[in-house]
Amino acid sequence: MLRTIVAVATVGLAPKLLVAQAASDTLAHIAFTNATVIDGTGAAPVAKQTIIVNRGVIEEMFETGSRKLAVDVREIDVAGKFVIPGLIDSHVHVATDPAGGDANAPAMLRLALLGGLTSVRDMAGDAIVLRDLAMQSKRADSDSPRLFYASLMAGPSFFTDPRTKASAHGGTPGDIPWMKAITPSTDMKLAVRAAKSTGATAIKIYADLPADLVQKITTEAHRQGMKVWSHSTVFPATALDEVEAGVDVISHAIYLYWAAIPNPPMHYADRVPPRSAYDSVPPDGAAMQDLFAKMKAQNTVFDATLSILPRFEAATGASFGLVDPKRAAQWAYDVTRAAKIAGVTICAGTDGRLVGVRDSMPALHGEMELLVTRAGFTPLEAITAATLNSAMALGSASTLGSIAPGKMADLVVLDADPSADIRNTRRVAFVVRGGVIHRRGR
Ligand SMILES: [Zn+2]
Repeated sequence: MLRTIVAVATVGLAPKLLVAQAASDTLAHIAFTNATVIDGTGAAPVAKQTIIVNRGVIEEMFETGSRKLAVDVREIDVAGKFVIPGLIDSHVHVATDPAGGDANAPAMLRLALLGGLTSVRDMAGDAIVLRDLAMQSKRADSDSPRLFYASLMAGPSFFTDPRTKASAHGGTPGDIPWMKAITPSTDMKLAVRAAKSTGATAIKIYADLPADLVQKITTEAHRQGMKVWSHSTVFPATALDEVEAGVDVISHAIYLYWAAIPNPPMHYADRVPPRSAYDSVPPDGAAMQDLFAKMKAQNTVFDATLSILPRFEAATGASFGLVDPKRAAQWAYDVTRAAKIAGVTICAGTDGRLVGVRDSMPALHGEMELLVTRAGFTPLEAITAATLNSAMALGSASTLGSIAPGKMADLVVLDADPSADIRNTRRVAFVVRGGVIHRRGR
């Protein structure tokens, strides 16, 4: 199935027409020349680089002009442009809408890819839809980011949530392979095997589970080769319990607070802290430092999801069940800053609309901006969060997340320098996914 002809205007040169976006084209040799490369590791930009892409993989990188290109190589001169790794949103939900809004998912994913996202981590939803989308996203010529998703586990009391009913496809929420209620008598081997059979990369641990069950789930999931992605407090288990259990990623800065509190609530429904809460736990105090040290020791990745906070800040008076949502938001920014300073690996996830309503651009650009403006990241650190660290969250850092020989050729070519101003990650000239070029139509 042939895809459309894509025009790539290379600034400063005559526009070139890049034809042949067929799947077979991914077998082609491409040389992006004169690129300024920001490789995703946090290293400073390197000018005048040639990136050789072969069969969808980065084959080599060297200074432009230092070697002759092979005759069959198609050269794409990107002089004046900045090349970063494909961006990875580590917290999306593309199939959780009980009202059926997920029918838009393919279109949204396409916009996400065109805006720079080459992978996403879906934090659980309707696994039948997710599996379909994920399979489609494995095609070499797919116009979706690569989609990785989780199968959900929670305490039985969680499964009264209306979202779970829609995702159950007539089954009983809590008693289907991708949404399993866990109790002390659950056969964990079978539960994890069923979750794995859905095609999920990971178990998502969500709500209403004690520390010992979090431990049991994590041990068995790892034994069967699955990752474990958790909410940062699941009640009564806190971030501290989860990190000690060995989960791979914890999500949401705003709930780290509970790790400092003895006897946290038993149920996720009671997650809203008391009025004095955020003043009693300094975001860079001893309790949080202890948590950060354990996260570093266990290589736990922290998915801060700052993008949910501006809504808290915009609230007037008590809102979201919080007495002072502004205060809570500030605490979450500050704890993310403290975690960064402590050396915790922080990825970039948004947990909201995948792409903006007005600009059709991925929300992840806003997350990177918040990391810089509110949590003290340098632009290069924010780019690492949204590339290499998000790839770590996926468990795919050996193939994704940075620009290096042997990695997938997932690249975003930018018209302006994102290390000078993080907002320049929005200046997308074109996107390369597995060696295939994708560009927004005019
Ligand atoms: Zn979420």
